Amino acid sequence: MRLGVISDIHANLVALEAVLEDMPPVDRLVCAGDVIGYNPWPAECVDLVRERCSATVEGNHDRNADTPNRYSMNEMAHEGLKLASEELNEGQLEWLRSLPRSVDLADDRVLMVHDHPEHVDQYVRPHSFPKMRPYLDDHDACILGHTHEQHEATIDGRLILNPGSVGQPRDGDPRAAYAVVDTAPDPMTAHLHRVEYDIAAVQAACREAGLPEQTDERLAQGR
Ligand code: ZN
Repeated sequence: MRLGVISDIHANLVALEAVLEDMPPVDRLVCAGDVIGYNPWPAECVDLVRERCSATVEGNHDRNADTPNRYSMNEMAHEGLKLASEELNEGQLEWLRSLPRSVDLADDRVLMVHDHPEHVDQYVRPHSFPKMRPYLDDHDACILGHTHEQHEATIDGRLILNPGSVGQPRDGDPRAAYAVVDTAPDPMTAHLHRVEYDIAAVQAACREAGLPEQTDERLAQGR
């Protein structure tokens, strides 16, 4: 089975549409969380992810759609969540509240979680992938997001994958990121993809929506 994997869309509709357009044919599309936050299109991104993804897990921004003030110390996150809380309708908010913390995919061979299998909000950066092995006794692969850094590694026969961020990359490459996992080989394989999108159009929309300047600056920097 070929699994299309997206994560950390962060309300960037232009990047999400570019990724969906670029992605080769897959059997299932899944999302590792953070559909909303930062960028100006939370409602459109919720609708598109609901329509296209067969499984989505809850990201930290998704969890705080109703409670943007929890991020009052972080202006970019706070402003993005405030905009989401104003733009999302009750059905969209209810869908975000219903998202599970983790899901098993591909006949329970793949674990998908936004941050860390056990520690909520913990970042698993590429250099920490080998430390994930103890959490993979029951799975052949683990998909995570949260760091916005695209990376894959095979540790002791187990695949660990962060597909990177669709809507706000932070690994130095501003292009939108996603991955395709092939579950047939043992160990499973992941192909990392990047796709250019109209960053200037998103920057203009960020300014129009009154979002902080740093939000659109980091899109061009990819950091
Ligand atoms: Zn994120």
